[in-house]
Amino acid sequence: MEEKQKAVDQVMLDRMKELKVETLYDRYQAQLPQCGYGSLALCCRHCNYGPCNIDPFGNGPKKGVCGADANTFAARHFLRMSGAGTGCHSDHGRAVAHLLVATARGEAPGYRIKDVEKLMAVAEFFGVKTKDRKINEIAEEVGEMALMEFGKPYGTLLFLKRAPEARQKVWEKAGIAPRAIDREVCESLHRTGMGGDQDYRNLTKQAMRVALADGWGGSMIATELQDILFGTPKPVQGRSNLGVLKKDHVNIVVHGHEPQLAEAIVAASNDPDVAKASSAAGAKGVVIAGLCCTANELLVRHGIPMAGHTTMQEAAIATGAVELMVVDIQCIMQALIETAKHFHTKFITTLSKAKIYGAEHVEFTDEHALEAAKKIIMMAIENFKNRDNKKVFIPGGAEPDVVAGFSHETIKYMLGGRYRASYRPLNDNIINGRIRGVVGIAGCTSPRIGAGEESYVSLAKELIANNILVVGTGCAAGQCASGGLMIPELKDLCGEGLREVCEAVGMPPVLHSGACVDNSRILIALSEMVKEGGLGSDISELPVAGVCLEWMHEKAIAIGQYFVASGVYTIFGMNSPVAGAPDMQRLLTKEMEELVGARWAFERDLKKIGKMVMDHIEKKRDALGINV
Ligand code: SF4
Repeated sequence: MEEKQKAVDQVMLDRMKELKVETLYDRYQAQLPQCGYGSLALCCRHCNYGPCNIDPFGNGPKKGVCGADANTFAARHFLRMSGAGTGCHSDHGRAVAHLLVATARGEAPGYRIKDVEKLMAVAEFFGVKTKDRKINEIAEEVGEMALMEFGKPYGTLLFLKRAPEARQKVWEKAGIAPRAIDREVCESLHRTGMGGDQDYRNLTKQAMRVALADGWGGSMIATELQDILFGTPKPVQGRSNLGVLKKDHVNIVVHGHEPQLAEAIVAASNDPDVAKASSAAGAKGVVIAGLCCTANELLVRHGIPMAGHTTMQEAAIATGAVELMVVDIQCIMQALIETAKHFHTKFITTLSKAKIYGAEHVEFTDEHALEAAKKIIMMAIENFKNRDNKKVFIPGGAEPDVVAGFSHETIKYMLGGRYRASYRPLNDNIINGRIRGVVGIAGCTSPRIGAGEESYVSLAKELIANNILVVGTGCAAGQCASGGLMIPELKDLCGEGLREVCEAVGMPPVLHSGACVDNSRILIALSEMVKEGGLGSDISELPVAGVCLEWMHEKAIAIGQYFVASGVYTIFGMNSPVAGAPDMQRLLTKEMEELVGARWAFERDLKKIGKMVMDHIEKKRDALGINV
């Protein structure tokens, strides 16, 4: 399995070189050496006195024109990144909340409420009356309450109450319990403007508050409401890698993040007109494959094949077998327009807030989703005749190779059983040492790490061999899926204790929990573990950690910051985003522990990260008194 993924990444790069198709690896090399000021967070262009740079080593300036120092530079960057990441996940969550309201009102005919049980659970949590009310009435009120979370004038976010009480007290004491989501994003921009907040500690507190508005706000709204609309993930078999594309089919790749587009494309692909049209075009059918987080959303809910993670987006087109790539928003490279020109691939944008110059645009709305989806599919079928078979090159196998769909509800049911679903068995297995701890691996893939390096796969293998259960999301999960780590048969690579648990339950040791917004599932799972008892009274006491090896997007910084602010020790690979400001670096990697009971770590050496995780887990086990 591992060899297959390595071959796919590397073989496709060779193939693109042969065809003289530029890749992100080429463009990354062309950027080297990258700007030293930028790399160290020591440049500022927040006002027109600048741009200003700070010289970290020599006798150059140590302050900007306004007097801002290195810590202020770095903390402002860090807060803006956290705010931008929160903005991305939360705008996604808002779109889902609008869709839920539209669906409940009968204004989005392509959608329906699929998980009534989850709707009732969220309604109860929001305090929405359910007795003697129609499902749609309840859904409309839940959607409207979710929308209020973005702009309510008073109070803090409703989902914060899902955290253990001790954690809520930490947030209150530190003054970082987030208020309305938009308020936190707006205030972050305000505070980072010229002459605003110029205390790196205070800026970092706001970075916690805005990031918590992501994890326990926008992302959690996205996840919970998507589950209501599209179904809560349950274990499902699927396939991953470029081998999911078929030579004799029309291939459509759906790339981006918000599942409403992909769900509509999948629904429209079942229209009888589609089968007729593809047959008339000489194809045996239509393949829908996901890419990036759209792939994760489709995989965990439906087992729909995943073409790859984010650094494979050009490679998917370079197979020459993709009739059409349709995108919504986030992590979509502008370069795809040029990549597509080398082949017959049509490239379609769908959202008015995410157009790409040179792309065809088919506007996608909640009200007319199925019509737009059908139009896009027909465009792909129409384009099948333009495929140049000499250019078709699809590496990788096509066998089932992933079991995905591990929502926190599923983990609870799998371990505890349908009639006594609980986290008790997981906690017991941690206490008795069969499972040493749990690690969430999340985040992007990056050209800074060579193709085929499979950093997440290597780390996950090391962790499971040492009896640590791994939960993956986003492109980290995508890489582990393609790397063959998400199958129950993999238990032979586990340490003895974890293997016993996986055998008893029939689950893989690396669990696919969904897309990047679904890190909120991990927050809920950790809260449930605390509430179950036996592992301390706060998330910060659990033997758990978070890891992102190849961070790229600002969303990753927001996720890291809300993991830490929620009490989870979090390690980022590659470089620190505040490396040029020693006080700021110390604040993130040491002093945050005093404030929120957890801290960041930044480590370039992938080999050291596994040891750091395991040392941390054993330290937490010692503190809990369960290392007997
Ligand atoms: Fe320079 Fe200060 Fe303006 Fe930034 S805010 S560009 S450091 S003068």
